[in-house]
Amino acid sequence: MTYLKNLLPAAAKALLLAVLISTTSSSVSWAEEETGPAFAPPVTKTITPEIGPGMRSNSSNFIVVLDPGHGKTGGHYSGCNFVYNGVTYYEDEITMKIASYTKQYLEQFSNYTVYLTKDSAEVTVPLDQRAAFAASVQADLFVSQHVDSALGNGTVKNAFGVSSMAPRTGRYNNELALQSQEAANTILKQLNNLGLNNRGLILRDSENGTLFPDGSQADYYAIPRYSQMYGIRGFIIEHGFLNHTSDLTLFLSTEEQYKALGEADAKGIMEYLQKAGKSTFVQTAQTTQTTQNTNSQNEGTGAPPSVSESKGPGAN
Ligand SMILES: [Zn+2]
Repeated sequence: MTYLKNLLPAAAKALLLAVLISTTSSSVSWAEEETGPAFAPPVTKTITPEIGPGMRSNSSNFIVVLDPGHGKTGGHYSGCNFVYNGVTYYEDEITMKIASYTKQYLEQFSNYTVYLTKDSAEVTVPLDQRAAFAASVQADLFVSQHVDSALGNGTVKNAFGVSSMAPRTGRYNNELALQSQEAANTILKQLNNLGLNNRGLILRDSENGTLFPDGSQADYYAIPRYSQMYGIRGFIIEHGFLNHTSDLTLFLSTEEQYKALGEADAKGIMEYLQKAGKSTFVQTAQTTQTTQNTNSQNEGTGAPPSVSESKGPGAN
């Protein structure tokens, strides 16, 4: 009891601070990409969507999972936003548009099957379930599409351009991490061709002691960490900063601009997959269970993903 009594004031202060932070940011809201539970749930039969006959019969039939970042659940908004000239730009709405254009572009080619982890900006899917879905369809590439923002504190104040949160090499599943980094760099190069500054790869260690099954330090960001665990190539692409005026006005404010970003992603995805071929790591997707005792408070929920399935290209 005494312990609890001592704890409560600190917890109350933390809560108050959180409320203050969330209510005082008037024009910009920081959207550091969430880290999620330590590990995603194991891929099980219950979360494997129906894969139509013949979908994987052609060895050059690439499976791409696009993940439009963030979303709203019950009115709660999980991404960043920025007000400019009286217009509020929301990350979840922009990422939904970028992902749709990427999908549309890829589906012009009959050897690409593309899934989205969700089909509306209104929907939020937990990060672990997004990755579990990508693993369940045996994605050759899993790309989580986001838009950045930065608060005016220190070095990131004037940040602009594109970047990727990718898995770090030299640790668990090293060869896979190398492939993810190369794929991410290929997409960043395409975005750079549009005129966006290329900030490169953002690689970050877990800061709460989360380890991979081989004892190596896990990745901090959820999407690359889960991808490494599931054995799929996966990473986040940040498509410029909402609160940087030139990024916003030149790349993030019109339908044509969203289309250009989405198509640049698609071109990077195609360029990489045509060079690298299908992923050979999809069979290792069961390994997540072995890690449950490393960080039990952050375990995945094991709940099936509430993801929408959008079928690949038809005859056209
Ligand atoms: Zn984001």
